[in-house]
Amino acid sequence: MGSICRPASSYRFEARGSWRPVTSNEIDQLIQLLARLPGLGPRSARRAALHLIARREQLLLPLAAALQRTGEAIRTCGVCGNIDTGDPCGICQEPERSTGLICVVEQVGDLWALERSGAFKGRYHVLGGTLSAIDGRGPEQLRVAELVGRASAPDVAEVILALSATVDGQTTAHYIADRLKDCGVTVSRLAHGVPVGGELDYLDDGTLTAAMKARRPA
Ligand SMILES: [Zn+2]
Repeated sequence: MGSICRPASSYRFEARGSWRPVTSNEIDQLIQLLARLPGLGPRSARRAALHLIARREQLLLPLAAALQRTGEAIRTCGVCGNIDTGDPCGICQEPERSTGLICVVEQVGDLWALERSGAFKGRYHVLGGTLSAIDGRGPEQLRVAELVGRASAPDVAEVILALSATVDGQTTAHYIADRLKDCGVTVSRLAHGVPVGGELDYLDDGTLTAAMKARRPA
């Protein structure tokens, strides 16, 4: 009885956990691609696809054009590791930002969170993750050597470690503080308000601002 009720492009759930398309076409491909986004499974991807298709002019086509433009223009900043449409990125090129302060974050999402909070007016350094024994990620997989190079510049006075309060985040903070000890910079880390196990991207702006203001020596 189900087959007569099911839309032509819907998916049938298989016991093995895979999704078999009822029809194979562009819509099925769109659903499969959407389902690979964080937070979207096959069901929500199907809903999102239907939502986009129902708003073809207002949403689907502008989104497709924005994705195309972004895909062609996006660059990783060779200085700080931020993503932007220019290299160096807009933040690295802002003349009013202090060059003496470098805030180290794990991911670009953390940089965006700090920017939203307005708590920091220096430069950033995106590591690209944390050290992780389980994932086999060592210092050479992160942008640590580049950070040491930047921190050695004479105008850099302080490096702020804005890393997650997770075991891997704190292990990474210890490691970086050790690597920077001969660079002649003050190394500090975020203080109050960052919960144990907390990831920066999930903190509210007020908590982030308080943590930045109350930073302490690493
Ligand atoms: Zn940059």
